[in-house]
Amino acid sequence: MTDTAPVGATTGGAFGWTPIDKPQAEQARANLIDYDRTCREFSWEKARSELAGLPHGGLNIAYEAVDRHAEGPAADRPALRWLPATGGEVVLTYADLAVATNRFANVLRGMGIRRGERVCVLLGRTPELYIAVLGALKAGCVVSPLFSAFGPEPVRQRLEISAAAALVTSTALYRKKVAPIRDAVPALRTVLITDGLGETGEMFADDLAAAMAVADAEFPIVRTYADDAALMHFTSGTTGKPKGALHVHGAVLAHRVTARYALDLRAGDIFWCTADPGWVTGMSYGVIAPLCLGATVISDEAEFDARRWYDILTTQQVSVWYTAPTALRMLMRYGDRLPEETDLSALRFITSVGEPLNPEVVVWSERVLGRPVHDNWWQTETGAIMIANLAAAQVRPGSMGRPLPGIEATTLRRGPDGRAAVVDGAVRPAEPGEVGELALRPGWPSMFRAYWGESERYARCFAGSWYLSGDLARRDADGYYWFVGRADDVIKSAGHLVGPFEVESALMRHPAVAEAGVIGTPDPVAGELVKAFVLLRPGYQASEELLAELTVFGRKALGAVAPKQIEFTEGLPHTRSGKVMRRLLKARELGLPEGDTSTLEGPS
Ligand code: ATP
Ligand code: MG
Repeated sequence: MTDTAPVGATTGGAFGWTPIDKPQAEQARANLIDYDRTCREFSWEKARSELAGLPHGGLNIAYEAVDRHAEGPAADRPALRWLPATGGEVVLTYADLAVATNRFANVLRGMGIRRGERVCVLLGRTPELYIAVLGALKAGCVVSPLFSAFGPEPVRQRLEISAAAALVTSTALYRKKVAPIRDAVPALRTVLITDGLGETGEMFADDLAAAMAVADAEFPIVRTYADDAALMHFTSGTTGKPKGALHVHGAVLAHRVTARYALDLRAGDIFWCTADPGWVTGMSYGVIAPLCLGATVISDEAEFDARRWYDILTTQQVSVWYTAPTALRMLMRYGDRLPEETDLSALRFITSVGEPLNPEVVVWSERVLGRPVHDNWWQTETGAIMIANLAAAQVRPGSMGRPLPGIEATTLRRGPDGRAAVVDGAVRPAEPGEVGELALRPGWPSMFRAYWGESERYARCFAGSWYLSGDLARRDADGYYWFVGRADDVIKSAGHLVGPFEVESALMRHPAVAEAGVIGTPDPVAGELVKAFVLLRPGYQASEELLAELTVFGRKALGAVAPKQIEFTEGLPHTRSGKVMRRLLKARELGLPEGDTSTLEGPS
């Protein structure tokens, strides 16, 4: 098998799964009906007219997300329905959110936090998080959301890299994660505690609640422009030390447009994005995009729990649901029988991102949830969804879909290092079916503008007028993209190119397998051997017989590139954002130092 005939080609080119067509009536209801025509006619320039812009000129994400609605007929529509972990529900309308964010912007200004300064927000999924982020954007600050389950060291790293002037957090998080590293971040001038003071005596703002209560409910939004910095998002750290990707206010256009096309989202939808706003998905699509479109955002404070999730989908009447493959696999592990009284009749669209979505999940979802999952692809760097399975289009299980209108994508021929080959400054497109590096033509509004403090690294992301994603994919003759792996994850075994995802997907077709992680281990003859770590579903026991069965199963599905070794594991290492960390599996296997594992440090 060669680069032009990767594993999928032997199994029908599409993992052998039957494509899922949509009923006509469903297609007719979609936001994007005619893909080819929309792609031909779309331009970002024309789309810009969708934005309101600040009343006196300029562009600010928070205005597009909040005040634009608060000043119109949607003022009393719920913007946020917050579900506390302890039960109950708190609703904030667009008008409520406008006032709260104005107050917060006034408090920040009162504390001497200036335009362009970085404000880190380290909060669980609570209304304060939404208020702090949007309020800081109104004040012209650059917001960096930090995932609240990080331990002190990842928090320190990010505060240091961003040179944040202010941090917004809670008493509990402060005590656990900030106090131990407070002295190591002297640039941090102000810490705002959202839930009162406790005994954190060194706070400059010693009672935020009181400050909010007396702050002016009006705030003239700082006149930012499309190219002004708005957000600094750290990458997940799957392949190494997390990078700080800088995004601008103009990105809001991409959030709006892509949510409409790829999530089929519209005003009045009840939208649940399960990603934490501490990550780019949770911020772009859990906060900004749905608010811009006038949807109602569901925010659940609690951690994953299958019953609770089915209950939220039912009682909140969620119409569009954006989640992740790991979560869906966990629901699959829970079983095919949904908890009693589950009612998914309001659910119009299910979609997923973040790591490969194995076709099994798409088919399970269609069968058990009544709708297929629509995979889409993007990165922290791209700031918005680039490639997606669309509501009105055929779903090809295992494929990430097609580039959105306004996005020009390609796959590029690879050189000996596995990345796009640059010869005399030029790159060449790969053939349909050939594995190449997934690349995008710069120019969409949410493209990152810098890796904070790493300009050389940023420059290395571009070649011959393309942005290089670092991911490998195949494009089929119809323009659908198929994820193969990250350029540095792909295994070369006895002359075969093996994408770990295809091997993992094949193993996950076995009823005993809940999740798999596949790596290459060095071999003097073959170069690398394929090794799989397998997590079993409840009710299955690790045994020699099962091992033999899985080995045969793998060989039947994959032939020459089947895993030579399979090991049962109690759990696979995931990043905090939920991705399988193959580099860690590999480091452990080879007895190497595990490198930067900061993203794994969790709630202590
Ligand atoms: P780091 O860059 O720090 O190693 P990361 O790449 O995991 O971390 P993110 O920007 O959060 O950080 O993730 C983007 C990556 O996630 C993509 O480059 C791709 O490898 C993977 N990914 C995202 N969506 C999909 C998808 N639908 N299918 C397969 N992989 C995906
Ligand atoms: Mg990355």
